[in-house]
Amino acid sequence: MLRIHAAADGGLARVRLPGGLLRAPQFAALADAAADLGDGHLELTSRGNIQVRGLMDGAEAELGTRLRDVGLLPSATHERVRNIAASALTGRDHEGLLDVRPLVAELDAGLCADPALAGLPGRFLFTLDDGRGDVIALRGDVGLYPAGDGGLALVLGGADSGLRADPRDAVALALDAARAFLRVRTTEWRLTEWPDAADRLAPLLGGHREPPLEIPATPRRTPLGRLPQRDGRVAVSGLVPLGRLEPAQLTALRAAGEIIVTPWRTAVIPDLTDVSDSLLDRWGLVTAPASAWEGLTSCAGRPGCARSRTDVRADAARARAPGGGPPVHWSGCERRCGHPADRHVGVVATPQGYEVRLGDEVRARSHDLTATAAAVATTRRSM
Ligand code: SF4
Repeated sequence: MLRIHAAADGGLARVRLPGGLLRAPQFAALADAAADLGDGHLELTSRGNIQVRGLMDGAEAELGTRLRDVGLLPSATHERVRNIAASALTGRDHEGLLDVRPLVAELDAGLCADPALAGLPGRFLFTLDDGRGDVIALRGDVGLYPAGDGGLALVLGGADSGLRADPRDAVALALDAARAFLRVRTTEWRLTEWPDAADRLAPLLGGHREPPLEIPATPRRTPLGRLPQRDGRVAVSGLVPLGRLEPAQLTALRAAGEIIVTPWRTAVIPDLTDVSDSLLDRWGLVTAPASAWEGLTSCAGRPGCARSRTDVRADAARARAPGGGPPVHWSGCERRCGHPADRHVGVVATPQGYEVRLGDEVRARSHDLTATAAAVATTRRSM
C-alpha cells in the first residue's frame, strides 16, 4: 500500500496528508520513522504532503506498519489518490466563508470507499477552498469554492463549472466529477490537461449551470508569523527552509498538538495560547516577513536524485537573498520537480550552467553562482 521510490540516496516514501493535517501522534510516528529507518529528516512537498527519504532496503513493511498504526495509511488500495489540498487555517482564523475541515474528512472517506476511484491517476488533485483563495488557485483537477450564496461552486481544471451544491451535497458532486473524468479520459493524467475541462465535464454531471465565477489565479498564501484565531488562541505559520525539517526541529515540534502542512512548504501550528520567541527559535520555523527563505524552493538535487547536475539545494541556500518577492524555484535538471503552480522565477541546472528563466524565456545563463544570484534578483524585480 505504501510505494517506495528508488532514489539515489535510498528509498523515498511519500505520505499523503489530506488537508495537510498531522496530529501529534502521527507527527511523532513520522519523526521516529525518519530517525530509525530513513535519513533523519522529513520533507514537505508542493502538495502539502510529507516525504521520508534515505530509507534502507526492506524498510517499507516496518514503515507501513508504523504509519497504519497512527491512521496515516487508512486504505490499502487508495493511498496514491488521497490528494486533497485545503485552506490551512479554515474554521480557525477570521477569513474564509465556511469551515472545510468536515469536507476534507468526508471527501477522503468517500474516495477510499469507492473501488473505482482507486483508478484515478496519482497526480489528480482535489482542492477545498473556504473562500480565501489559497488552494483553489493551485489549479487542482476538482475543487470546491464558496459561491457566495451559501452554496459551493464545482471548479474543474481551475475554472468554475457553473454547477452548485449545498455544502451537504458538495462532496458527492466532487466525487461524481472524478468518476466522470475516469469514464471519459483516454490518455490524460489530469483534468487540467483539457483547456475546456469545465465545459467538457459539467454536461455529464447534469444540473443547472450558473454564470461562472472568477476563480483566483494566484494563491493567497498563508501569511507568516503569529496569526490570531477566532477563539482567542494563536496559530504560528512558519517557513521550513527549502522544505526540509531537520532532526532538532523534529524533536522540538513533537510538543505541538497539531501541524498543518501547506503546499508552500510552510508549517502551521494552531491552537496555541503562549508563543514565546524562544519557542519559535526551538521550532526553527522562519516567521519574519521578507526573509531570504521566503518563496525559495528547490528540488531534491544531489545526492538524492541521480539526474541532478549539482547539489542544487546547497546552491539555492548559498545564493538566497533577503527582500521577499515572487517565488524562485531551483531545479537540478529540466524536469523541474516540485515547481510552484503560480508564476515564478525558475533556476535550472543545464550543461551550460544555471539558466534563470521567467516562464519559457531564458533571462541569463552562467556557471557562476554570484552572477546567477544577481540574475535571479533582477528577474524577481521585473515581475
Ligand atoms: S528536477 Fe531533476 S534533478 Fe531535481 S529532483 Fe527532479 S529529476 Fe531530480
